[in-house]
Order: sequence, then C-alpha cells, then structure tokens
Amino acid sequence: MNYLLDGGTIWTNNGKLIENGRVLVENGKIVKVGGSEEIGNLSEDKGETIDCSQKLVMPGLVNAHTHLYSTLARGLVLPDYSPENLSELLTGLWWKLDRKLNREATRISARVGAVELLKNGVTTVFDHHSSPNYTEGSLQLIEEEVVEKIGLRSSLCYEVTDRNGEAEAQQGIRENLDWLSTVSNRDDDLTAGQFGLHASFTLSSGTLEEVSSYLEDLDTGIHIHLAEGREDQDDSLNQYGNRVVTRLDNHGLIDEHAILAHGIHLSEPEKDLLGDRDPFLVHNPRSNMNNGAGVADVEGLLDRGLSLGLGTDGLGFSMIDEFRSTLLLQKIYHGSPSIMGLEDVGRMLFEENYELAEDAFGIKLGKLSPGYRADITVIDYPSPTPITEDNFLGHLFFGTSGSNYEVETVFVDGEPVLRDSELVNLDKPDVYREARKISEHLWEKIRGK
Ligand SMILES: [Zn+2]
Repeated sequence: MNYLLDGGTIWTNNGKLIENGRVLVENGKIVKVGGSEEIGNLSEDKGETIDCSQKLVMPGLVNAHTHLYSTLARGLVLPDYSPENLSELLTGLWWKLDRKLNREATRISARVGAVELLKNGVTTVFDHHSSPNYTEGSLQLIEEEVVEKIGLRSSLCYEVTDRNGEAEAQQGIRENLDWLSTVSNRDDDLTAGQFGLHASFTLSSGTLEEVSSYLEDLDTGIHIHLAEGREDQDDSLNQYGNRVVTRLDNHGLIDEHAILAHGIHLSEPEKDLLGDRDPFLVHNPRSNMNNGAGVADVEGLLDRGLSLGLGTDGLGFSMIDEFRSTLLLQKIYHGSPSIMGLEDVGRMLFEENYELAEDAFGIKLGKLSPGYRADITVIDYPSPTPITEDNFLGHLFFGTSGSNYEVETVFVDGEPVLRDSELVNLDKPDVYREARKISEHLWEKIRGK
C-alpha cells in the first residue's frame, strides 16, 4: 500500500523543516519529501492520502535499551522492601518478579509495553528479556506480540546469568541461539537479535567464554548491563582481579557489535579501552536516578568518540522524556545550565540511536528522506511559537510534555500501526483489562500468597 502524508510540518532530521509539506511512502520506503506542489497528489487507486495538517511529522524513535518484562511492576508494593543499593533492588524486586513470569505474564507484559512504546512514537525497540521459569520460546512469543500483532521493529535477546545455576544459564544461552537462528532465517527487516547477558557480577568466566565462542560465528554482539552499580566493579576486582571492562574484554566480548547499558562506574582507563573497542553505550538517566545508581560521565564518553545512545531501561517508554531527562540530569549534576546543549543530547537520540538500529536491521532508518524506511511518527502538537529547523529540539525539550502533545499516527516499515491515537491491530482497552487481571495474579505470587 502507498501513502501520502499531507500538510504537516515535516522535520526530516536531515537539515530541513518543511511547512505544509508532503511525504510519499511506497512499498515500505520513503520515496519523496517536499512541498505540496513538488510532490503532487496521490490518486485514490494508487494509495491513501492522510491529512497531517497542523501536525508535526518526524522519524519514528528508537529505544536502545529496555525491559518489556518490567511492565507489570507498575504500582507493585512489596512488604519490607527498602533497597539500599542495586543488589538489593534486584534481589528485592526484579529477581522476584522475573522468576514469577509465566507464558501469560510474559505475553501481556510485552503487549502492554509495545502499545506504550507506539503511543510514545517509538518504532524500534532493543529489548532485554528475563523470565527464568519460562525461558524456552520466550523470545518467539515476544516477537509474536510485539512485531506481528503490534508492528514494532524489534531487536530481542535473553538475559543469560549464572545467578540461577548452571542449568538455567544454559537455557538462556540456548534461547539466544534459537532466536538468532530464527532471525537469520527471516526475510523481513523487522526483527534482529543480540546475545543477552545480565551483568558481569552474575556471570561466571566459563559462561562468558562459552558465549564468546558462539559470537565468532554470529553477526551480532552482546547486550549487557555494564557497571550500573558499584557492586559490578567490586565483584570483578575481588573475584577476577580486573575491572569490568577489562574482564569482558579479556573474553573478547567488547567489540563494535556490543550494546553496553549504563557504563556509570568506569575508570578513565576503562573509558579509553571502550574508546578503542567502539561498542555502543546506552545511557538511561531516569532509571539511573530512580535507582540512585549514579551519573554516567556523558561528556567523557562522548569526548572519546564513543557511540552513546538513549534507552528507558523499563522506566516508562517515552524517549522524549528520556531526552529531556538526559539534559536536566547533566545540568544539575554539573551545576551549569550550559554543560551540554540540546544539540549534544539530540545527537544521542537522533543520530546514535538510528545508527545502532541501521546496523542491527541492515536498513536505512531515522531520516525522512528518499530511500529510508518509512518509520514515521506524526504528533499533534499545537505550538504557540514558530517551529523552525533551528529550534525543533527546543520544542521537544520545552513543549512536548504532559497534555501539550499527543502521538497521533505511527508508521513502521511503510504501514500505519497507530491511527487517530488508536492501535490499528489491537483494541487497547482489552489489552489493559487483560493485563490487570494477569498482574493481580502475578503480584499475589510475588508476595507469596
Ligand atoms: Zn536494563
């Protein structure tokens, strides 16, 4: 099907802002972008024209690190839960929750998470999954929910860890291998995979070595949490005599295909080593603030030329909120209103995240330009001031929050998956009704009732 998006304010992410513009989509790709006279009309028999007048039209967003399985933790109150550090957060909440996820809870978590990503204008997600009592087939199930039913472009992986013993570590390894084999046999560009690992402090040397041996034959890298808490470094130093980056690097795991989430507690030599290896780091400031995890040295990482993108790490699904929080956190941390500019943070969301997705899916993404895949977000944002190419990021930072805006239409791979703020393929109230039922049951199990 072909589509003409007509009449919007088009931000191309390619140096142009076009008032009253048009985007022509054919066979999943953008073929023309420009003014209405330049592009012309689309006759009814050739496709559909969608009115975007008064709307902002921009590339769909990428979430470079999240956990769809965390969705049903929202509002969960646990008795005597008062974590002092990351380890207590994990043992007190997340490892209790992931252990209770069965097929139904995994399915509905993924479904609700995907709905909320779309409602936030996200068209590509890099998910990091864990459900130790429902491992085999979990990534395939998430794919059915997130990609087939809802239409998100998705890179999936399963969190391998030794915290549940060797047998479960092996199950996790197999689930990654199965998924990566499935992905390599698919002929669409909607799915991809990484090799998921939890974090150095829950992984034995044997497991790291085994994963490393598989990666030699795979066209992907690891997706791991790196130095999110101090305990990751303490464990690595105490048990292996090396800091985390060196430990993982000694196993050959840090390369240009690796996705490393957080990277907060890093020494200067570790940052230099990362600079040499060229992995992709993902900054998740809202999660870091919520966990009291620390503040990543964003400036120091960028100074080394590292690829640094943004993710939500399960704390909500809005990349615009993450973009805003990135800048706010750096300003308060450094005590300066100009330590970073909108352009610096804009590069993380609008350049780095797209480069990650382009590599993972092997397609052109992130610009409204001919030849790029038609992953597009249309936002209803009635601005009280002019929008220009120069101030677009300022509107995102100061304007698109709360009730000031609504994501109205989303395209993935040239097809609409959200229209008039409603899902094209699913009934949203039904999804939420079902999720509430399943979450009540899940919470009872977590609380041991
Ligand atoms: Zn995470």
